[in-house]
Amino acid sequence: HTRNAGQPEFLEAVNEVLDTMMPVFAKDSKYIEIFDRIVEPERQIIFRVPWVDDKGISRVNRGFRVQMSSALGPYKGGIRFHPTVNLSVIKFLAFEQVFKNSLTTLMMGAGKGGSDFDPKGKSDGEVMRFCQSFMTELYRYIGPDTDVPAGDINVGAREIGFLFGQYKRLANAFNGVLTGKDLRWGGSMIRPEATGYGCVYFAKNYLNYKKTDFTGKKCIVSGSGNVAQYTVEKLLDFGAVPVTMSDSSGFIYEPTGITREGLAYIMELKNVDRGRLNDYLNFSKSAQFFENQKPWGVPGDYAFPSATQGEIDQADAQNLVANNVKGVFEGANMPSTHGAIEIYKQAGLMFGPGKAANAGGVAVSGLEMAQNSQRQQWPREVVEEKLSSIMKEIFDMSLSAAQKYDMGDDVQIGANIAGFLKVADAMEQQGCV
Ligand code: NDP
Repeated sequence: HTRNAGQPEFLEAVNEVLDTMMPVFAKDSKYIEIFDRIVEPERQIIFRVPWVDDKGISRVNRGFRVQMSSALGPYKGGIRFHPTVNLSVIKFLAFEQVFKNSLTTLMMGAGKGGSDFDPKGKSDGEVMRFCQSFMTELYRYIGPDTDVPAGDINVGAREIGFLFGQYKRLANAFNGVLTGKDLRWGGSMIRPEATGYGCVYFAKNYLNYKKTDFTGKKCIVSGSGNVAQYTVEKLLDFGAVPVTMSDSSGFIYEPTGITREGLAYIMELKNVDRGRLNDYLNFSKSAQFFENQKPWGVPGDYAFPSATQGEIDQADAQNLVANNVKGVFEGANMPSTHGAIEIYKQAGLMFGPGKAANAGGVAVSGLEMAQNSQRQQWPREVVEEKLSSIMKEIFDMSLSAAQKYDMGDDVQIGANIAGFLKVADAMEQQGCV
């Protein structure tokens, strides 16, 4: 706590894992020392990002890259552009990434980066100049065998393109240094869809285990970005009824369910027009918009928080329980607070923690790295089949680790244990590094 003072998000993420590690420490105390090491990033880079806006005025932002663990492979994890980005947020995300990447079964270490730059209201030219400046510093620390960043909040295809272009110019190399690239120049099929699809696949495995399914089930989804959009798409594929989506201005409630046409409208609105969600009322007469509110008070069967950290607090969790919601599957990173998770557990909800449920994105990023190394592109069906089997494996591994450590079917504890043990054993074998 003293060493990481003023980093509440990071401390919360570490505490969440630490709380679930007691059965591991009780069986073998060597893991306590390894835990002490795993929470310390291998390297943290903080840098100035100067850029010039459309009026010719100089601006400055702060850039971060936290290289958390290289025990299992090159550092791997997204880049986030959002005014709330600071060292604590990036460290918490990098820490979560260690366990998540370990669970994917692929050979990836963990990192995370970003900037407090806010792309809202910025022109394409401004975003490009910012990305170029960000990469001018970052390129020294990354590479296809060193550190392979990807997208995250506000870093999508457009930003990855600008970042890649600048990297290529500086490094004089066209390689797989970034994932989430456009399909026509090195991207993988299914990468845009992977986190949302993967989260729904994870939930489906959980529902199968509980001998139920998605047919006709109402799903409360938050967010309307990359993860939320493809969560809704896969829910529709499985016959579920997604009833909400949100953004930072509020949420829409469509009692009869968001249709494929409705989703297409929202994708155009958010990805092309970069507009606000209340515009959806121009498409649907039956929908309602709740300004500056979160959707957790809406009746439904399952919740898919897919916007940002801390979006479900204790009061929200109590609302979910009161409405008889039976499961929470985290598309976002750490959307549920510690207190909220306690409430899910007391009420016996199914709970798919982010580091397991949303690992599909980084898993397909790992597949993108493999395709780039081969200089090949695998067909869509091949990648989706691999994604689906990785999500099944993540669920199975999490469940069996929980059972092995006498934690019943607590998938949250199991995911932390399974993710940790693989990295910890690699760290032990590689010596005190
Ligand atoms: P996007 O930028 O595509 O979308 C983010 C969505 O969340 C937008 O609807 C945005 O609203 C909303 N949002 C962001 N910050 C806030 C906030 N502080 N308060 C309320 N709403 C907010 O990001 P992604 O969909 O990629 O990421 C969503 C979550 O999923 C994040 O936690 C991310 O770390 C996690 N994740 C993403 C992966 C990926 O592959 N993309 C992989 C694994 C996890 P608005 O449009 O108003 O800004």
